[in-house]
Amino acid sequence: MKGKRDYYEVLGVAKSASDNELKTAYRKLALKYHPDRNPGDKAAEENFKEAAEAYEVLRDPRKRQIYDQYGHQGLEGSGFSGFGGFEDIFSSFGDIFEDFFGFSSRRGGRGRASRGADLRYDLSITFMEAAFGVETTIDLDKHETCDACHGTGIEPGTQAETCPHCRGAGQIGRSQGFFTIRTTCPHCGGTGQVISHPCKKCNGKGQKKISKKVSVRIPAGVDNNSRLRLSGEGEAGAMGGPPGDLYVFIHVKPHEFFRRDENDVICQIPISFIQATLGDRITVPTLEGEKSLDIPKGTQFGDVFRFRGDGIPSLRNGRKGDQIVQVTIKTPTNLNKKQEALLKEFSKLEDAKLGKRLKNIIKDTAAKAFQ
Ligand SMILES: [Zn+2]
Ligand SMILES: [Zn+2]
Repeated sequence: MKGKRDYYEVLGVAKSASDNELKTAYRKLALKYHPDRNPGDKAAEENFKEAAEAYEVLRDPRKRQIYDQYGHQGLEGSGFSGFGGFEDIFSSFGDIFEDFFGFSSRRGGRGRASRGADLRYDLSITFMEAAFGVETTIDLDKHETCDACHGTGIEPGTQAETCPHCRGAGQIGRSQGFFTIRTTCPHCGGTGQVISHPCKKCNGKGQKKISKKVSVRIPAGVDNNSRLRLSGEGEAGAMGGPPGDLYVFIHVKPHEFFRRDENDVICQIPISFIQATLGDRITVPTLEGEKSLDIPKGTQFGDVFRFRGDGIPSLRNGRKGDQIVQVTIKTPTNLNKKQEALLKEFSKLEDAKLGKRLKNIIKDTAAKAFQ
């Protein structure tokens, strides 16, 4: 598979391009490669689709953020897969093509098809699910286009009639002096048509409320507050228009032992001061299971050890971070008489060493002061 070009490069704009700059750049490319101007030209078709995809992502602040942060792979993880063909492109950018070319990509008829609203779903997952990815299903209450009338609200086998009030114009004129003021027809709501036989299944609404199980694939490496987009899983569009998208907001529950910093996993391991002093081999839990770690002699509180590649995979390139082990040192408690005596003995030796060192420091400082 050919690698995808950078979206900013495709549109020929800077990473900091404003919405207007994006639109202008896309307009130029869309005009140049429009299929009407390049009939049968495969290369032009590819360019047209590539530009549409780049613009589709960058004009949407949420998608643009995902792309800036995680690149193409991040978008795939969020369910965006580009466009299938021209139909898709025209239905997504209907409004833009209208003002670009002065024509509408929508077919005429009763009312206007419009895209459904986007939905938000908040999903809590565990630390491990975020690290390894998970496939789950969520229960969603939403509206779906009525399958009996395909969103028109008209009982199958019957037809909408021309509005008698405006005679199908959708507007009515009212004379006021020299002028005629045109307003939306209140009888048909501007559609120009009235339905005498509403669809029985949806009571003429064109939609029905449903509860749906949607399966969601959470890619390994998602972090708290990541968002996934599930294309077409939002609310149904009006008048048979395309559905909106579903955005799943990920909330990762904290782990009792592991913490996360970017793609590194951090944990704290307490050891005894004897282990720290003399060195030891200890067992450390990692995401993949237990591993042994050699603590060298003279380890200090807060010293850090690293298991390379035992962290969390990057959403962008799959490369794994590290596991970082921070050592803390426990002070011994409840010593018996013998242990105390031994430590006191040890302390005397240490004092003697420390005393000698202190004397040297004082001597040094004094010598420097009188130089
Ligand atoms: Zn219906
Ligand atoms: Zn009317």
